[in-house]
Amino acid sequence: MTTLFDKFSAVMDERQALTGAATDPTNVVVDKMVSATEGVIAGRATILAGTNNYLGLTFEPSCVAAGQHALANEGTGTTGSRMANGNYHSHKALERELAEFYDLPHAMVFSTGYGANLGILTALLQPGDCVLLDADAHASLYDGCKMSGADIYRFKHNDPDSLEARLRRLGDRATRTLIVVEGLYSIIGDCAPLQKFAEIKRRYGAYLLIDEAHSLGIYGDNGRGLVEAQGITEEADFIVGTFSKSLGSTGGFCVSQHEILSLMRYTSRPFIFTASACPSVIATTRAALQVMRDRTELRTQLWKNAHQLYAGLQGLGLSTGPEVSPVVGVRCADQEQAINAWHRLLAAGVYTNLIVPPASPDGSSLLRCSMSAAHTSAQVDAIIAAFEAVLVTN
Ligand code: PMP
Repeated sequence: MTTLFDKFSAVMDERQALTGAATDPTNVVVDKMVSATEGVIAGRATILAGTNNYLGLTFEPSCVAAGQHALANEGTGTTGSRMANGNYHSHKALERELAEFYDLPHAMVFSTGYGANLGILTALLQPGDCVLLDADAHASLYDGCKMSGADIYRFKHNDPDSLEARLRRLGDRATRTLIVVEGLYSIIGDCAPLQKFAEIKRRYGAYLLIDEAHSLGIYGDNGRGLVEAQGITEEADFIVGTFSKSLGSTGGFCVSQHEILSLMRYTSRPFIFTASACPSVIATTRAALQVMRDRTELRTQLWKNAHQLYAGLQGLGLSTGPEVSPVVGVRCADQEQAINAWHRLLAAGVYTNLIVPPASPDGSSLLRCSMSAAHTSAQVDAIIAAFEAVLVTN
């Protein structure tokens, strides 16, 4: 006789395989944050090379001050959803500012990036509709599609031919089809051919949703993301993103050219049935958006650091992604090597992200680094030196 709990023995086995040494990679505790790029882990000063703090704004004085002001004046939380408890003026202001930032008419703010994807996908899609989903799309995109009840077909990662072949096969159903992709992919650090995807969707009369979680603040002359860099902001039907990466806070959003985004406020369950973001979180996000717009030198510095890390790791002969980006995934020979290297990097004072199946895109095992504008050149050199000691010199 089986029980409800039996499935957890497999989880237990997997965790034990990962843990091995002193620190569990899935449960790291940062005892103290020293700065945007440095923390204390297990008593040791550690360079944080695996955050998504792309612009380094988590300690930005204007953002901290805005959050403190909101805490003192608006309280610790909203204690309910926007539909039930009303919108705070700041939720609305952030929506206006996002719409203005993208130069699109409609914007909707959610409590998390994960919730934004669930919220938009479940409101937009229903059984009988189709989704063409990039094979490497984030779990929140997959979960939203699955929850919607639409038919899901995956196409080869970043492959316009594979997308078109599936779209062609759908025939008349193409006009009830949503193509779901990301901009910058967060594990390997490769970019989607968004222009090609947009051209295909136009030809077939389908719709396009792009998750720009890792692209916002990084690409485009104004930091609007890969949609801006590839000139397709107006062609995307829905652009979703998160505040938890380059904006250094939490929350998610969707901007769109379509009026129906406003109607989703009445139909999107992940929007309706959860508490709205705390006023302090909204305030820090608004301040960070302003900093991102004003201080373009942060983006320049981020790219400088990204080039330094990518060139350094490539110079060591390590297997990185196909292009320079603030995300650099280093492929390891196998899971055992990745786990072992992750522990040794941490012991050398460098925190990276351990990515092993099923979280990795193609079954490989990787050490993921992400650069921040706040990393110093010396810190980037130290990260490269630690990789050399752990994966090359050995
Ligand atoms: N989309 C993508 C592509 C992501 O990488 C993430 C977070 N890693 C999310 C959505 C969810 O965002 P959040 O963590 O802010 O909920």
